[in-house]
Amino acid sequence: MIVMKFGGTSVGTTDSIDSVAQIVAAAIEKKAECAPAAADGELEANTPGALVVVSAMSGVTNTLIDAAQSAAAGDETPYRDARSQLLVRHQVVAGQLIEDGVERAALGRLFDNRLREFERLCRSITVLGELTQRGLDVVSGVGERLSAPLLAAVLRARGVKAQFVDAGELIITDEQFGGANPLMEPTVTRCRDRLLPMLQSGVVPVVTGFVGATENGVPTTLGRGGSDYSAAVLGAALDTAEIQIWTDVDGVMTADPRIVAGARSMDELSYEEVAELAYYGAKVLHPKTVTPAVDRKIPLRVLNTFNPGHPGTRIVERTRELRNGVKAITAVRDLRLITISGRGMIGVPGIAARTFNAVARQPANVLMISQGSSEQSICFVVPESEGEAVIAALKDEFARELDRHMIEEIASQTDIVIVAVIGAGMKGTPGIAARVFSALGAQGINVIAIAQGSSEANISLVVLQAFADDAIRAIHDTFELGTE
Ligand code: ADP
Ligand code: ASP
Ligand code: MG
Repeated sequence: MIVMKFGGTSVGTTDSIDSVAQIVAAAIEKKAECAPAAADGELEANTPGALVVVSAMSGVTNTLIDAAQSAAAGDETPYRDARSQLLVRHQVVAGQLIEDGVERAALGRLFDNRLREFERLCRSITVLGELTQRGLDVVSGVGERLSAPLLAAVLRARGVKAQFVDAGELIITDEQFGGANPLMEPTVTRCRDRLLPMLQSGVVPVVTGFVGATENGVPTTLGRGGSDYSAAVLGAALDTAEIQIWTDVDGVMTADPRIVAGARSMDELSYEEVAELAYYGAKVLHPKTVTPAVDRKIPLRVLNTFNPGHPGTRIVERTRELRNGVKAITAVRDLRLITISGRGMIGVPGIAARTFNAVARQPANVLMISQGSSEQSICFVVPESEGEAVIAALKDEFARELDRHMIEEIASQTDIVIVAVIGAGMKGTPGIAARVFSALGAQGINVIAIAQGSSEANISLVVLQAFADDAIRAIHDTFELGTE
């Protein structure tokens, strides 16, 4: 059994949904040919069949969120427009790909009910005049609750036995709305109870990505781009043979192809490398996707819906090592660099601990830390959206030290990015940082700070946002990542 996840662009148009249906039908046929049937009640990795996880059609989640935010601000036009636009968009696909009138009518009613519900929710948001993260999770999950039943019906129209399943029945999470964490124990039980009988009778479950629910059934989401994570959670819960992430590029590439024209898709990457890449901004995989897969050593594969013959990228525990060890470059944007400096910090224990305790109380996420050996300054990077709160917390924490000039300044620099150079083989390869610096120096790009994680799979550099793309291209060129 395999898990196949299709992203927003893969289900964005009639043609792409048709391609998705072909890909799923072909995978089912292939699996059926080569796999023996599993014994009753167990799910062997080679049980025939597939579980499909699907994102909302491209752009839909953004439309839903914008509509809810406008509703909170008193503007009711966006949600009314969204309702009719989304109804048409889904119905057009159904009209083009599903011949059976009964099936089409049932689907039309489902779309209509879901969108009426969305409209009701937005109306209450307007009345209340505020939008909680909990309310937003209900609204933003509507897109997957439209696309998944649509894809299930399209598959049935192609002769694949498929059934829509809402992940709210399967993925049980905590109550961290907007970025909920799956609770594996109840999730495994639910998945096995609900999905195994379907899989064993040859039905393909078509599950909503991105969404889950608390133990009490309150809808949650796993965070933006979270359908990849949904696929990995479901794959781990069912101990699947492989988790396939079908997207719009030929796999994980040496850099974002929208920035580096010569970026190349890689055959293989390790879990560690892909986790670093995703964490440092490569949008192709949600950063949490790797965790459930690693725990059970389930291979992940990133494939292209628009070029299904391409082998894509296989993500496994260990890979063959390349010449210089550098494999890919990525960047996280919209960050702020915060620097605490002062001569009075030298030899005073506990400054770093107090700094990061104050940051954690916000709570803010620290993406990188760098401290000079002279101990005169500590600098670290947080998302821009958390910057002001962090500065205020630090000024409060160190009010006495600032007063006595033990700490001279708590400064911050906005509009910065972290460029991350990734590759497990960098470990023990001397001179990589030097090559990175000279590539940037040759372009006149100043490196504001640098850090290397102890895993040595990553060197991170802070540069001004204005230079981010040039920096990525310069490093990509220097290590000749575009050629095999
Ligand atoms: P999906 O809707 O299928 O989840 P996403 O838009 O979330 O797709 O992710 C795929 C996109 O990620 C690609 O179209 C590409 O522009 C971008 N991307 C950024 N960095 C990389 C990378 N290193 N490799 C591949 N794609 C990348
Ligand atoms: N539809 C959701 C989003 O746009 C989840 C996903 O696409 O993975 O964030
Ligand atoms: Mg995505």
